[in-house]
Amino acid sequence: MWDRTTHDRVGLGSSVRYLHGVGERRAEALARLDVLTIGDILFFFPRRYEDRRRLTPLDELHPGETICAIAEVLSLSLPGGPAPASALLTDGRATVRAIWFNPHIGKLLKPGVRLALCGRVEYYNGIQLNNPEFEVLTDQPPQLIGRIVPIYPATAALPQRRIQNLVDDALNTYAGRLVDFLPAKIRARYGMKGLQEAVCELHHPQDAESWLKARNRLAFDELFLLQAGLLLRRGSEQRPAPPLVPGKTFERFMAALPFPLTGAQRRAIDDILRDMQETKAMNRLLQGDVGAGKTLVAVAAILAAADSGAQAALMVPTGILAQQHYLTLERMLAPLGIKAGLLTGNLRGEERRSLLDALQAGELQVLVGTHAIFTEGVEFANLGLAVVDEQHRFGVLQKNALIAKGTSPHVLVMTATPIPRTLVLSVYGDLDVSVLDELPPGRKPIRTICLGPEEEGRLLKLIRERVRQGQQVYWVCPLIEDSEEGRADLSSVTSCYERLSKLLPDVSIEMLHGQLPMEEKAAVMRRFAAGETSLLVASVVFEVGVVVPNASLMFIEDAGQFGLAQLHQLRGRIGRGEAESLCVLLGGQGTTPEGHERIEAMLRLPDGFALAEADLEQRGPGEVCGVRQHGVTDFRVANLVRDRKILDLARKEAQALLAEDPTLETEPLFREELMRRLGKTLHLAGTA
Ligand code: ADP
Ligand code: MG
Repeated sequence: MWDRTTHDRVGLGSSVRYLHGVGERRAEALARLDVLTIGDILFFFPRRYEDRRRLTPLDELHPGETICAIAEVLSLSLPGGPAPASALLTDGRATVRAIWFNPHIGKLLKPGVRLALCGRVEYYNGIQLNNPEFEVLTDQPPQLIGRIVPIYPATAALPQRRIQNLVDDALNTYAGRLVDFLPAKIRARYGMKGLQEAVCELHHPQDAESWLKARNRLAFDELFLLQAGLLLRRGSEQRPAPPLVPGKTFERFMAALPFPLTGAQRRAIDDILRDMQETKAMNRLLQGDVGAGKTLVAVAAILAAADSGAQAALMVPTGILAQQHYLTLERMLAPLGIKAGLLTGNLRGEERRSLLDALQAGELQVLVGTHAIFTEGVEFANLGLAVVDEQHRFGVLQKNALIAKGTSPHVLVMTATPIPRTLVLSVYGDLDVSVLDELPPGRKPIRTICLGPEEEGRLLKLIRERVRQGQQVYWVCPLIEDSEEGRADLSSVTSCYERLSKLLPDVSIEMLHGQLPMEEKAAVMRRFAAGETSLLVASVVFEVGVVVPNASLMFIEDAGQFGLAQLHQLRGRIGRGEAESLCVLLGGQGTTPEGHERIEAMLRLPDGFALAEADLEQRGPGEVCGVRQHGVTDFRVANLVRDRKILDLARKEAQALLAEDPTLETEPLFREELMRRLGKTLHLAGTA
């Protein structure tokens, strides 16, 4: 009676402590597995399964196999001490020994009982079963065998059998309360299993086919909820913005381009101009591999803004890059009578004041800068367009801070890190996306090789050869992440610089690292860009953006330490000029297996998007963009590598649903589930 009333009050959102046998200690152990509520435990799915439907006769045991069997205990041997307990077992066809290191075995077994057994066959003075799981058979059907058994991620505090029982209890009592939130139309269209059935099937699959249907249904749920959530957020974030229309300046610039646009650039510019002419704000991501020509696309957008009398901001992550972008822009814009300014943290006093005055008076049409753009006193007269380069380094919040500076600017986010399409859809699903998937013509492919530490002679020869031909060389040292800011970076660059200077006395060498002051960094880069330096030893401070076409050889030391995206970014610094470029990956002594895998991927894959896919497969979605995506891609069932088709389907259905019903009024259950699962993660309105 007590049980019944309790169950009436207890729901899927109640604590796991309402389950039989869960006290404080187990609740804590479950919490460590992110299982807090009864609903959580229903969705705590097995990591794998063991098919224990087939029984193996004892005369067919082979060492190395894991088998299930039914047998009777003939005799027991309980020597005590460190020696294992053992039993002789028979199924009428053969007799085998089983051993256990469990001292209590004598209390559990006696001759004559019948057992269901599961375990590994080994050979040790004859065939034996090593430490098999067992269950004494009664008139009830056995739990251990005769079915597909779910294997959960167990811990010391929560052993496998305990979790299995907890899940089964929860399923028996509470699975009936799962309400199918998926719109009935969609379920019907794809002949999907119901939610309750799918959840039960995932814990206790009938067979492979039925399991697949169930997991696909649940993967669809997760991807569909996310897509709908992103679209919902996009709808609520839609801001009005003044339409910006390209005019004379834009036309003049396009007519004077020294080269034809690539098809991809043309498409991206079309997308952007179309967005900017709308009365609602553009929110677009421009993705393009290093060297794909994103700057030009940004300039086209900036000119459309200028033609409409609006200012533009271009934000970049580092001071060096800001300076380089500023010079590039200045060169393109000055002939058109468009004025640009540069704002970095280094700008102080009178210079800063006059720049900000010009900005506020509307005399500057473009401001290029770093985070300094967010500081106090930076006021635009009329900010119409915000371009954010190398997006993954800026938080979303900073983007919002920039938006707050203008009345309501159009936003273009650019990234050179190729992001797999599945990830773009799931993480940036609320942005429109343009992709520059075509490099300007004439780029030569970069050859990539890997050399070991013993091949120093060969590598010095490579450097001398290039330098003799008047070309330049990068030597990249890894940044050791968990060290005091910049220190280890400094020491590895310095020691490398000293070593190379000794080995190559006739080559002009400079170094670049995080500890140098900004002007110094810029001066080093300037000398290298001007060809005054032949070899630049650098930590990754120069990784983004900066291009010296005459550099055709790059060494990456301890290459296995870098992430794939980073390696690809680095490699993209060469291959911009006339000469055949070569990238040499140096596999340090301490290269991990994952490091080797990354080096191998670099040798095999020239294209950033292919590498990004490889990265996604290797490291999972959380790491690929260089930032954790705050739980957006923490799926229980869905997998962005395997479920591309399901993702496309989910996106299509979510778009259709929200087009018809932008606030999900007609699907209150779905809306409720969406808020419950993703409201906080996606910062959806109406969530605490
Ligand atoms: P990204 O920022 O995408 O890495 P950039 O905008 O720096 O690439 O462009 C790389 C180089 O390619 C620049 O020197 C630029 O002038 C050149 N470039 C851009 N578009 C074209 C094109 N359509 N044809 C030839 N060269 C181009
Ligand atoms: Mg760029």
